[in-house]
Amino acid sequence: MRKENFTAQTNCEVLEVLTDSTGKRATGVTYIDSSGDKWEQPADLVIVAAFTFENVRLMLLSGIGEAYDPVTNKGTTGRNYAYQTANGVTLFFDNKNFNPFIGAGAVGMGIDEFNNDNFDHSGLGFFGGGSIRVTPIGSAPIGYRPLPPNTPKWGSKWKRALKDNYLSTMSIGCEASSYTTRTNYLSLDPNYKDPHGRPLLRITFDFAENDLKMAQYCTGKVAEIAKSMNPREMIVKPMTGHWSSVPYQSSHVVGGFIMGSDPSTSSVNKHLQVWDVPNLFVVGASAFPQNPGYNPTGTVGALAFKAAHAIRHVYLKRPGEMISA
Ligand SMILES: Cc1cc2nc3c(=O)[nH]c(=O)nc-3n(C[C@H](O)[C@H](O)[C@H](O)COP(=O)(O)OP(=O)(O)OC[C@H]3O[C@@H](n4cnc5c(N)ncnc54)[C@H](O)[C@@H]3O)c2cc1C
Repeated sequence: MRKENFTAQTNCEVLEVLTDSTGKRATGVTYIDSSGDKWEQPADLVIVAAFTFENVRLMLLSGIGEAYDPVTNKGTTGRNYAYQTANGVTLFFDNKNFNPFIGAGAVGMGIDEFNNDNFDHSGLGFFGGGSIRVTPIGSAPIGYRPLPPNTPKWGSKWKRALKDNYLSTMSIGCEASSYTTRTNYLSLDPNYKDPHGRPLLRITFDFAENDLKMAQYCTGKVAEIAKSMNPREMIVKPMTGHWSSVPYQSSHVVGGFIMGSDPSTSSVNKHLQVWDVPNLFVVGASAFPQNPGYNPTGTVGALAFKAAHAIRHVYLKRPGEMISA
C-alpha cells in the first residue's frame, strides 16, 4: 500500500468479473462504491479472494465455469461443498478449578492420532477423523454456562448448579472431517436476492452417513480419554442427525470452486488459476476439494502464497495457462 502505483479501493463491492466475448479472458470487474456509484475496472489480471461463499457466488454470477448439477453430476462451479463435524465431551469435576475465564486462542493441547488417515480404518465402515483438542480460549461468565445433565432449566436449582460447576468443568473437542458428496453443493438461490437484485448463494447440505459414523467413533475415543480423567459426570456429544443452520457449529466452510488436475471435475489448477480463463485466479478455501479435521486458514494462507509465487515467477513472465487442460 506504500507503493505509489498501488490504489486500494475500500468499502466497495465487486459485483461481477467481466470476460470478453470468448469467455476465456477476464477483462476486469464491475464494482459499486460507498456512494452507490457503479464502476468498471479494466484489468489484465484478476484475482478474486472474497471468502469461500462469495468466491463461488461471484463465479456463478459471472458465468465462469459451468454451474454444478447434482442430477447429472456435471459442471464444476459449486461442487464439492464441505462443512466440518463439531464433536465434544464435557467433563464435570468436584474440587477442581480450571479458571475458565482465562485463556488465549493458542493455549491448548491437541492429539492427532484419530485424525483422517492417521489410524487403521479396517472394518470401521467410514473414512476420515478428527483433531482432538483442549483449547481454553477464555469463557465469559455469562456466555459459558456448563450445566450437568438433568439440571432444571431455570430457578434456584439452575443457579446453584451453574455456581457449583462454572470453575470445575472443562471440555475436550473433536473438530472432524466432512467429506464431499454428490448432493452437497452451492448454487444461486432461486428466491432470495441481495439489495442489487442479484441472487444470494444457496447452500444445499446435510451430513453424510460417513461423517456421522466417523463422529460416533472419534467422539467415543474422546470419551475414553475423558473417562480416564475420572470426572464426576460427562456429557458425550457426537454430531448426530441432520445439519441445522441455527446453532453455531463451525465457520470452516470449504469447496465450491475446487482445485484439481482434471478440468471436468475442478475449477482451478494447483496455482489457483481458473481452467480456460488463465488471467483469473480464485484464492481461498473454495479451492479445498475436501475438508479435513483442521482449521482452514493456515492452508488458505499457504495456497495464497503458492499462487502469488506462481503468478510472479511464471505467469507474469509468460501470461497464459501455467498447466494446460
Ligand atoms: C466466527 C469465525 C471464526 C473463525 N475461526 C477460525 C479459526 O479459529 N481458525 C481458522 O483457521 N479459521 C477460522 N475461521 C475461518 C477464517 O475466518 C477463514 O478461513 C479466513 O478468513 C479465510 O480467508 P479469506 O481471505 O479467504 O477470506 P476473508 O478473510 O473472509 O476475506 C475476504 C475479504 O473479501 C471481502 N469481500 C467479500 N466479498 C466481496 C466483494 N463482492 N467485493 C469486494 N470485497 C469482498 C470481505 O469483506 C473480506 O475482507 C473463522 C471464521 C469465522 C467466521
